[in-house]
Amino acid sequence: MKDKLLNIKNEAISLILSAQDKKELEEIRIQFLGRSGSLTLAMKEISKLPKENKPQMGQLINETKGIIEDTISQKLSTFDSLPREALAKWGRLSTFDVTEPGIKPNIGHLHPLTQVLQDAIEVFKSLGFQIADGPEIEKDKYNFEMLNIPKDHPARDTQQSLYLDTRGSKVTPGEILLRTQTSAMQGRIMEKIKPPVRVIVPGKNFRYEQVDASHGFEFWQIEGFFVDTNVRFTDLLGTIDYVLRKLMDENIKLRFATTNFPFVEPGIDTYMECTSCVGVGCSFCKMSGWSEIMPAGMIHPNVLRAVGYDNQKVSGFAFAIGLSRLATLRYKMDDLRILTNPDLRILEQF
Ligand SMILES: [Zn+2]
Repeated sequence: MKDKLLNIKNEAISLILSAQDKKELEEIRIQFLGRSGSLTLAMKEISKLPKENKPQMGQLINETKGIIEDTISQKLSTFDSLPREALAKWGRLSTFDVTEPGIKPNIGHLHPLTQVLQDAIEVFKSLGFQIADGPEIEKDKYNFEMLNIPKDHPARDTQQSLYLDTRGSKVTPGEILLRTQTSAMQGRIMEKIKPPVRVIVPGKNFRYEQVDASHGFEFWQIEGFFVDTNVRFTDLLGTIDYVLRKLMDENIKLRFATTNFPFVEPGIDTYMECTSCVGVGCSFCKMSGWSEIMPAGMIHPNVLRAVGYDNQKVSGFAFAIGLSRLATLRYKMDDLRILTNPDLRILEQF
């Protein structure tokens, strides 16, 4: 009988301590202390014992009962003070192996476009350029008129523009648009700062254009301009050559061609050998082997006059780097739409 009671006590304590919730605890209580519980049945057996053993066994049974009841109430109090989730976690923590290697966190990195932009900013800073920012919603005055492109100028047709719907406001329709070129900042900056001025403006532009491998309706440019006394055309060529070789590779092939933009005279276009096909011809370079990368020119005297500069005393050059194209060429992609694809399998490669 003594051994039987000891077994009941040990079994009950072990079950109570490993119980996961109140329901399980109640089941254990019934198993031992219920009407047909093992301890209750043991109590009934006292009557069969010899008279002299009855008091001793009775005391032992009461003690066992007391211990089981106390253990149950102690366990019950832990359920009341801790939420179930925490207990479940504790259960896991008890088997946690502290020597096991941890899970390596996924560390992000800069987008390829941002990497090229930051490199470009560093190169221009080393040449003494300041960095400026400007509005993406721009006035027609700065986007076109101050750049020697009046309302009736045919050059407007080359930049399909997205004008804002200003009906119901004080703004005349056709006066506000999403800027088509970061050159819009030339007027804003030169109006406020007297020469010498040496500034770059990185930013996004928007045009209502057919999207293809080398054109987006939304694209990045770095506008730059330099105005001082005696700024020459050769300074512009030297700057383009230095900057592109720094950003790409010392051995890139460049070529210049004359072109016309109303805000420069003379105007040039800079072409870089396509890195995707190495000059053979592909969809990105329209099978020409060359990609237009940096249109530029000497700032037109009309533009200098419009901002209040004396165009007899100062001269300057301006350029725009197609940043989206530059990033595409640097990483030897054949389609600039890859840059705006959010697929991590692409982005993780840079
Ligand atoms: Zn190509």
